[in-house]
Amino acid sequence: MSVKFHEATRENRTSYYNEEWRIKDVPDYILETLSKREFGFDHDGTGPKDRYNRFESPEALAEFLQKRAPYAVYCSVSFYEKPQNREGWEEAELVFDIDAKELTIKSCCKIGEVCEICLDNAKNVAMEVVRLMREDLALEGIYTSYSGRGYHIRVHDKDIMPQDSEVRANIFDYVRDRMYTSPKDMQKPPALLFDEERKVKDVLERTVPFSNLTKEIMKTLIRDGTSERLILNVPGIGKTTADKIFGNSQDIMEWMDNNSVKELRKLLGPKNTQNFLEHVYMGYINLMDAKVTVDTKRILRLPSSLHSKISRKCIHVEDLKNFKPEHEAVPKFTRDEK
Ligand SMILES: [Zn+2]
Repeated sequence: MSVKFHEATRENRTSYYNEEWRIKDVPDYILETLSKREFGFDHDGTGPKDRYNRFESPEALAEFLQKRAPYAVYCSVSFYEKPQNREGWEEAELVFDIDAKELTIKSCCKIGEVCEICLDNAKNVAMEVVRLMREDLALEGIYTSYSGRGYHIRVHDKDIMPQDSEVRANIFDYVRDRMYTSPKDMQKPPALLFDEERKVKDVLERTVPFSNLTKEIMKTLIRDGTSERLILNVPGIGKTTADKIFGNSQDIMEWMDNNSVKELRKLLGPKNTQNFLEHVYMGYINLMDAKVTVDTKRILRLPSSLHSKISRKCIHVEDLKNFKPEHEAVPKFTRDEK
């Protein structure tokens, strides 16, 4: 089910911003902090070269977008005293950028391309990041948006927002490692988050050896008959092991549900189990861009704006689990063309 994404024309963009887009589509957490954010625009598809813009009011932003119909719209994750000069940094959202383009374990489309299945996998990663931040780290004010080729997560936790890159890097490492590792094997999470007041839930007491995400990914790999060659790509895993995996896929799925690595080890041997799990881990961890998380001056696509390269709407997503970009993020002008 490969989808053809096509580029929006100048006319498409104008009709989008004037006939479909509404200022109320911009989420409140951005409208409420609008005048503190730097806006960046890409007017011709060559990148966001028009920087250092400030809007005093939602109306001023609306007027600009309707008149200029930019190719892409970005706003800063940081709040500044003078966003038009990028001066007086106050605080910044904690951000996770999950890009489906970086997916390397897949049989749905070519590496470097993105299809609806890739987007669904990126969504699973996003859901797991949100879950870990909420349940393990007790972070509050977590917002998600569909970014066109993946998902953005912005966290407005009052204790985290003033923090520098180092703390953000720690959080990134924690979330990344937790996506694969059982809490038992984890190093302690960043000290900041062990603050008594944070009420970190039993992070280190849990006994689940597989994260939900790892389970989902492994199931997808095993269930999908065409993925045999993907398993053969795993360093150290040959035809014999791949046959074992597919010959016992039913059992393996059950073991995953019961969190039993022991059985998998017995079947594949410790070395191959390790190789297999590590490969799954690396393939999905790559979707999260650490550079974005640690950068406190980054600009990200504005939810509600048009991703012109693929003619999709970037949108705020309230219910990630049930969100379907192929229905909800398609601008009217592409539907008219069908
Ligand atoms: Zn794909």
